Amino acid sequence: MKKTIRDYDLKGKKVIIRVDFNVPMKNGVITDDNRIVESLPTIRYAIDKGAKVILMSHLGRIKSQEDLEKNDLKPVAVRLQELLGQNVVFVEETRGKNLEEAISSMQEKDVLLMQNTRYEDLEGKKESGNDAELGAYWASLGDIFINDAFGTAHRSHASNVGIASHLPSGIGFLIEKELTHLEPLLTNPERPFTVILGGAKVSDKIGVIENLVKIADYILIGGGMMFTFLKAQGYEIGKSLLDEESLDFCKKILEEYPNKILLPVDCVCGKEVSEDSPIRAALISDIHSDEMGLDLSMRTFDLFKSYVERSKTVFWNGPIGAFEVDQFATGTKVLCKELSELDATVVIGGGDTASAAIQFGYKDKFSHISTGGGASLELLEGKDLPGISAICDKEYEEI
Ligand code: AMP
Repeated sequence: MKKTIRDYDLKGKKVIIRVDFNVPMKNGVITDDNRIVESLPTIRYAIDKGAKVILMSHLGRIKSQEDLEKNDLKPVAVRLQELLGQNVVFVEETRGKNLEEAISSMQEKDVLLMQNTRYEDLEGKKESGNDAELGAYWASLGDIFINDAFGTAHRSHASNVGIASHLPSGIGFLIEKELTHLEPLLTNPERPFTVILGGAKVSDKIGVIENLVKIADYILIGGGMMFTFLKAQGYEIGKSLLDEESLDFCKKILEEYPNKILLPVDCVCGKEVSEDSPIRAALISDIHSDEMGLDLSMRTFDLFKSYVERSKTVFWNGPIGAFEVDQFATGTKVLCKELSELDATVVIGGGDTASAAIQFGYKDKFSHISTGGGASLELLEGKDLPGISAICDKEYEEI
């Protein structure tokens, strides 16, 4: 068990909280502030306990000078200030005199947000490469380190693993909530336990399929990745997505688990991924050579429903159609609706699936929507997440 923010006396301490403010932005405007909202319980707790709260987060990827402006964290500081209802000091730099002076003048309950940690990637990938000097420097700015950025917990970066190796550390309420919902899927799921996987590429999901096929009762496959499975079974898939390199894996896993892995029986086909492409429903044995399968159709809805409605636990990762285009969003919407009506534990993986569920109005309709796509998948692959492993363990008194 890892220490949590509750295990420390925060009063008067400089508490560095690594949050996940990696929010979607368009022209400097935040289009979805869910990740900021999810960070509030930990930040508010630290304020209430009288900490000096130093926030660090990444935003996007920084490879060139132009990326700096696109991924400036300033708009996040403004939104955070509105949500918290108190002043948030924003420091434009990730190191140096300004940052150090701003921190040394902080009072109890003050909140400061440092510029995007990945600004340090511009020269030498210092943040993403977990540069030892950078981790030690950031740690020198605080007394206690709290990691609450689940979305990057599967990465070993200076702002999580680097800082944690120099300071007393704990996890925040968001990471605690993620673990509370995700870990029982591996250890103690109420059965039947059904996993639904969609999304574009099989190769991204091989690890999770290999681990969950041993634990789950059923794995239902949809999305672009279903076509590699269908091809492996000998179907003609037209111009649908194909992940050639994963064909052998699909053949092998279908042979090993013929009754656990369930594939669609029909789909919605179009000639292109656009709103005005003519579409038709087709059996999977009848996809034309110039067509792409872009969503699931009625017979598959019925088939999937028959498994889903008797499940007591469901984990879903990956949209089951090209949901960004309205006419291919039906399957993902139908699935959201069915899952939201179940008397079962329903956990939604992060990334695109979370965005789709929230966009279609199902934000509070499931047991849990993860804030970390890659991190939740790696956890369910059975891997240790470095950002969590690096946090101090709880000490137990001998009985
Ligand atoms: P992933 O990041 O692997 O979860 O993939 C998400 C993406 O898969 C989304 O952008 C969807 O539009 C896309 N997707 C889902 N189903 C299909 C499909 N049948 N054909 C093409 N793309 C799809």
